[in-house]
Amino acid sequence: MRSIVWFRHNLRLSDNHPLYEAAKEGEVLPVYIDDPGLSLFPDPARRRWRTLSLAALDRSLEPFGNRLHLFAGASDEILQDLARRVRADTIVAYRGLVPEDRAREEGLATRLAGSGVRLRLWGFDCLYPPDQASEGRPGPWKIFSPYERSCRSRFFPERPLPVPERICPIPVSLNGGEAGQSPRSQPLPEGGRGLAQNGFDPGEAGAARRFQDFLATHIQGYASRRDFPGEISTSRLSAHLAAGEISVREVVAGVSGSPASGADREKFLSEISWREFSSYLLFHHPGMLTEPLRKEYASLAPEREGEAFLAWTRGKTGIPFVDAGMRELAETGWMHNRARMVAASFLVKNLGISWVAGERWFAEKLLDYDPANNAASWQWVAGCGTDAAPFFRIMNPVLQGRRYDPQGLYVRQYIPELALLPDARIHAPWMRVSSQTSSSPDTPDYPEPLVDLFVSRKAALQRYRSLRHFSPDFR
Ligand code: FAD
Repeated sequence: MRSIVWFRHNLRLSDNHPLYEAAKEGEVLPVYIDDPGLSLFPDPARRRWRTLSLAALDRSLEPFGNRLHLFAGASDEILQDLARRVRADTIVAYRGLVPEDRAREEGLATRLAGSGVRLRLWGFDCLYPPDQASEGRPGPWKIFSPYERSCRSRFFPERPLPVPERICPIPVSLNGGEAGQSPRSQPLPEGGRGLAQNGFDPGEAGAARRFQDFLATHIQGYASRRDFPGEISTSRLSAHLAAGEISVREVVAGVSGSPASGADREKFLSEISWREFSSYLLFHHPGMLTEPLRKEYASLAPEREGEAFLAWTRGKTGIPFVDAGMRELAETGWMHNRARMVAASFLVKNLGISWVAGERWFAEKLLDYDPANNAASWQWVAGCGTDAAPFFRIMNPVLQGRRYDPQGLYVRQYIPELALLPDARIHAPWMRVSSQTSSSPDTPDYPEPLVDLFVSRKAALQRYRSLRHFSPDFR
């Protein structure tokens, strides 16, 4: 049997079903296609990540006498052509979730019809197959908790597969461009942030190291510390998971077998289930990347993006917890989950700007950009997701900061202009203490707040209440 293994969002050798089965059955041509129709990599740092990850995958195939063949263009056309050249029997891959990925699969299936080449798409690269999770129900799940309970009682994660013992190359000589590029000869895209100085190490080995470090040091206390952005208390595996350098089954197996407390393990596994739920939602609602899941929200007229949006993207809103998050994103390509929630809530509720604009900004800048997680999380914050935060939940960034960054460690790290403020004012520099006599600002380099938090909160509630009027099922 001769198979083309089409690597997509799964840049690893271990626990890789299509690769494992194809390698067991015969010869394998490993392929990655940089498809402009599916480009998830607008940001230079994210493109650098992928370049390094592909090079790492190529290196790990070397001991098998194999290599990764890198092509650029429309995946369906390239794969059809390649299958003919190498006389492949099958093309194997995990199914994709994003609508464009699914369109490519359909295009490829059409092209291969009658050619004798079989397209074998494995289930999704996840824990709970989204196409089976609502079997026996009248429609897709809307609420996370019953979805999670049902999935955990019905699907038992398989043991992760090992790296195949053999990955024999296809003995056909492809000439020049026919063989594709070598991932290791690709120049690293210029610009953007550095990865190594921010502690990122793209590739399967880097993902495994990061995970082992988390199991050894940070999982203890995860449940109680995960909300504090000034500490390293979460796994920071998200970019590795998004690139598929580690599988979610490997992560679940490692955490389930760790000596961490039950509360820490459970909290972590529940976050993983949120990831599954997001993928499930995207599978059933492909339009959710741009349209609200609750249709009544389409009538909410958001503010136009403008100066306020620019200030938000630059971390210059004058609200320290929001700005620290946005600057962390700009400087490192990652943002702590608590800061993501607060920054998103501030954009949508206090500034009245559409969640779609925020979603797009994150999609461009996050190293861990995951279409399903990003859109579902934005919709959750904006209140228009299926199991979203209730509309009256408007996070107060000052209170959030005082609770989750009590000494202002996070704010001081990303907003040096505020570093010398006392803890009592670090989250609200505009507030003067009673002993202060001068009315001139003592933080001249930091902007005044863009909006009054109290007034903008009231305006948001009014906007949302006007929607409620039209929607009988509004909670
Ligand atoms: P950990 O706490 O260590 O969690 C482990 C893994 O579980 C994460 O790597 C991630 O895969 C998953 N996970 C954790 N929290 C969530 C969550 N709330 N929802 C879904 N999955 C979760 N996550 C992305 O991976 N990509 C995105 O593009 C993305 N955009 C977001 C946008 C907004 C507005 C918000 C509020 C959240 C977003 N998240 C996104 C979810 C979450 O913030 C990140 O997954 C998390 O911060 C990653 O850090 P970690 O790996 O240390 O997480």
